[in-house]
Amino acid sequence: MSVTFTPTQKQRLSELNAKDKTLNKIFNDNVARDKYYREEEARLIGRNKEDLRDLLQNRRLPLLSVVEKRITEWLTEEMEFTQVNTPIIIPKTMLEKMGITWDHPLRQQIFWVDKNKCLRPMLAPNLYEMMKSIHRITRQPVRIFEIGPCFRKESQGAQHLNEFTMLNLVEFAEEYSEGQMNRLKELASGAMSAAGVSGYDLEITTSEVYGETLDVVKDQVELGSGAYGPHPLDSEWGIFDTPWVGIGFGIERIAMVLGGYSGIKRVGRSITFLDGCRLNI
Ligand code: ATP
Ligand code: MG
Repeated sequence: MSVTFTPTQKQRLSELNAKDKTLNKIFNDNVARDKYYREEEARLIGRNKEDLRDLLQNRRLPLLSVVEKRITEWLTEEMEFTQVNTPIIIPKTMLEKMGITWDHPLRQQIFWVDKNKCLRPMLAPNLYEMMKSIHRITRQPVRIFEIGPCFRKESQGAQHLNEFTMLNLVEFAEEYSEGQMNRLKELASGAMSAAGVSGYDLEITTSEVYGETLDVVKDQVELGSGAYGPHPLDSEWGIFDTPWVGIGFGIERIAMVLGGYSGIKRVGRSITFLDGCRLNI
């Protein structure tokens, strides 16, 4: 006879961040299974406590903050990008200028503050506005990035949060002698290496509307997505025929992959998790 964990045992072990290999284990009989379960549960509780203690006594910064810090340092110290902080509450007109009108799929995911204001679902609208204004004053190539909360009503799942941290970088009015896709690849790989992520793929997709886009994917998780212009949306922002490249990364997704967590909730904004450790066990 061969047996597997009961649904309750499986649930408990998965709450304790057991690996799939453990969850799918097969035993000769119930006695062997229950013994293994008790030992594994105790081991995982111990490890959770150890990890929490290590954070509180030594590391102090959760992985999410570490990823933010590493990419910020790389962008500001090596890549000549400047950090900006823009409003989280944005007017509805900004969504419309991004092409997010009533029939756009993202429109259903918007958290409205009132009739004309919402919580930003992305950083791009504010960055469009910023890069245009900065360039008008300086007449130099603009390199800016923002890291901050974005909000989307998601039907949950292991890779989606309703509130998450986006890092969006844009470079505007640069000359791309090596081509914009090459620059995007360079920025995407640079960010991954700064964050400490290896073994990812860069996937190019071509669409009629948006031209070429570049996705950064690891273990089937999309960590970031990049595009370049001139772009059909540019004219909405008063930008015409100026080349740019931009990439948006999900910081929780990067932390999830780096920490080896199977669910994104562990690393997101939470009062039940701290840096992947469960606080309600
Ligand atoms: P997905 O197809 O996975 O929903 P998306 O195409 O909606 O992603 P983008 O709009 O391109 O994502 O956003 C850029 C990045 O932000 C994504 O590559 C991902 O890393 C992250 N991201 C997007 N939505 C979420 C979310 N709900 N929770 C956590 N991270 C997210
Ligand atoms: Mg999405």
